[in-house]
Amino acid sequence: MAIKILPPQLANQIAAGEVVERPASVVKELVENSIDAGARRIDIDIEKGGAKLIRIRDNGGGIVKDELALALSRHATSKVETLDDLEAILSFGFRGEALASISSVSRLTMTSRTAEQSGAWTAYAEGSEMAVKVIPAAHPEGTTIEVVDLFFNTPARRRFLKSDKTEFGHIDEWLKRIALVRSDVHFTLSHNGKTVRNYRPATNEAQYLQRLGQVSGRPFADNALRVDCQHDDMSLSGYLQSPALVQPADVHYFYVNGRLVRDRLVNHAVRQAFAQMSELDQPGYVLMLELDPHQVDVNVHPAKHEVRFHQSRYIHDFILQALQSALSQAHTLPVNTQSQ
Ligand code: ADP
Ligand code: MG
Repeated sequence: MAIKILPPQLANQIAAGEVVERPASVVKELVENSIDAGARRIDIDIEKGGAKLIRIRDNGGGIVKDELALALSRHATSKVETLDDLEAILSFGFRGEALASISSVSRLTMTSRTAEQSGAWTAYAEGSEMAVKVIPAAHPEGTTIEVVDLFFNTPARRRFLKSDKTEFGHIDEWLKRIALVRSDVHFTLSHNGKTVRNYRPATNEAQYLQRLGQVSGRPFADNALRVDCQHDDMSLSGYLQSPALVQPADVHYFYVNGRLVRDRLVNHAVRQAFAQMSELDQPGYVLMLELDPHQVDVNVHPAKHEVRFHQSRYIHDFILQALQSALSQAHTLPVNTQSQ
């Protein structure tokens, strides 16, 4: 075959193979965009596990009319301009790929209005060239993205979808992860017209523990040990399962600069901290590590679940110390005063 440049839609569909695995990945990308846009409230409506409809409505800053088409095209991002930005990334997005990918494998419409605009506009991409149409619409300040018939034009992907219940379960699980770290944002989640979750914004610790209880169940939240430790410009905060709780809690959330990551480092530190204290094999935790973004590389994986620490030994030992200190305080105080 002769060498040809791929048409935009096909190129985007290939990229979608990496980032858009199932409805939950769409929800993740869109909600992260809403958070990056400064939204304080995000409403998520799902129909049929997300295969029929995913609608995300936010009250963030919106997108100006002239940039709607750009937002839908590949490698278009407002978040990174230089390699230096990439090395110090704090926003969720940076690849400029999500909207283009999702719109190449669904019927996507994006409606938005900024504070300066008197009206809203809806944009959608059409055909293999993905030419963007922009038409007037009604919408308050913020953005709504509707993704209808996900994978309608990529039957192989569509066949891989599990039952509505399973797909919705993945969405619900992902929302828990973000709800724990962005407790300042009000999230709602509905399935087939019924509200399933309502995470009200938490501005103090009691409200945070409320939200934690919604996610982890009461036993973990009611007994959790507070972790709070600083060293140089690093800090670790969050909650650790009380050794007094004999059931392992299925709560394993580790965030680095607000991003949920999978890393053996933290599991190892938690197990080591518990080694002499309890029989628990996998104690529960919700831990947030904040550090200079230059100390960590997030650009490892397209779905961004993995990070690479430049000084992993040092960070491991810092986490271990923070956990040991939380555990040693638990021994000098009755457990139930810890969660107040
Ligand atoms: P990325 O998030 O990597 O920049 P995306 O394809 O997810 O790439 O989004 C492209 C651009 O569209 C973003 O950089 C942002 O400027 C804009 N955008 C997307 N979603 C929203 C939203 N909900 N509110 C405001 N702007 C948005
Ligand atoms: Mg994005």
